[in-house]
Amino acid sequence: MRSYEKATKARTKEHNKRLVLRTIYDHDQISRAEIARLTSLTRPTVSAIVADLIREGLVAEVGQKPSEGGKPATSLSVINDGRCVIGLDLANDEFRGAVVDLRGKIRHRYNASVERRDGDSALQLVFRVLDELLERVRCPVLGIGIGTPGLVNARAGTVRVAIDLEWRDQPLGEILAERYGLPIYVANDCQAAALAEYVFGRVDYGRNLVLIKIGRGVGAGVVIDGRLHHGDGFGAGEIGHWKVTEAGEPCRCGHFGCLETIASEPAILRQAQTIFRTRPNSPLRGLVSDPNAITLERIEQALAQNDEALAAVIAKTGRYLGRAAAALVSTLDIHHIVLAGRMTHFGETLLDPLRREMRQRALSPLAEETEVSSSSLGDDIVILGAAALLLANELGLAN
Ligand SMILES: [Zn+2]
Repeated sequence: MRSYEKATKARTKEHNKRLVLRTIYDHDQISRAEIARLTSLTRPTVSAIVADLIREGLVAEVGQKPSEGGKPATSLSVINDGRCVIGLDLANDEFRGAVVDLRGKIRHRYNASVERRDGDSALQLVFRVLDELLERVRCPVLGIGIGTPGLVNARAGTVRVAIDLEWRDQPLGEILAERYGLPIYVANDCQAAALAEYVFGRVDYGRNLVLIKIGRGVGAGVVIDGRLHHGDGFGAGEIGHWKVTEAGEPCRCGHFGCLETIASEPAILRQAQTIFRTRPNSPLRGLVSDPNAITLERIEQALAQNDEALAAVIAKTGRYLGRAAAALVSTLDIHHIVLAGRMTHFGETLLDPLRREMRQRALSPLAEETEVSSSSLGDDIVILGAAALLLANELGLAN
């Protein structure tokens, strides 16, 4: 056989294997005959692939169920911890890591607080989190996925620039592959979060989704036709440094009036501190004694006590996010916009002004058809997205 024929045959075999595994993953408790029908592969091909998957510990026979002919057929399922992946979130006040199974269930965690944000300390801390997790992991590890702030060349695994961690052209993927000998995937945290929502979120989004993540910064991730859209320079969704006001605060990127200076967690805390200092009647005064002790939880409590000045800050934040939503809707015509991050706890106080502003600034039919909601994945969203990168790329699952 000529070498190109061999290569084509190997590719077809790998493609068929992924197809069968994906079919079992999506259906759970499925027979070989049903797989053959759904994939249009022959029965002998399906049986041979299933035998491989069972031998590799990815699939198990889980029982019998009656088939159309009356003869019982053996059901197959994916073994949820037949493989696991390590997911890391570097976009928080602490580095968060977890071992995640094939269904996105977290098996264990390890978090480490970030004491110093200079480039080398950040890298050493990544090593520590990974060492701890790999020591405790009990199932075969498929690889490591990382969601990091900054501009990331996901193909090369290089962080082009992450102001927050003082990384510039940091070949994170290469460094980790050398140290751990595992497949490594690196993505921007907002892009990873979008993939997590698409794969593990409770809603069926069809094929497209925009996720806006609000945390230390603000950014969006875009899923188009079931895949992350990175953009030509890997910066798709970088809305945090979009200038939204002329008379704005200085931003850490060097410009003024970026969306991040109004709508990020630090921006909200800063505005709450001003309210604490200038408004003696603010309910915040009864909740903390020092403006530096204000947290998002305290702001939520103050809002429950009808703190009008704070409600105005959150409404303004919603309006500015609504501008971003209008721009995204107008550019992409994607019908699902999902918000993620702890600020989603503000609920309709944030979402209602956001929707109104979006409707005022985008073509009516587009805005009317666009649903704006909050993610249900909570604080694990970036970890789950990092895990989904591995499942999608290494096993053909989760996309
Ligand atoms: Zn900026």
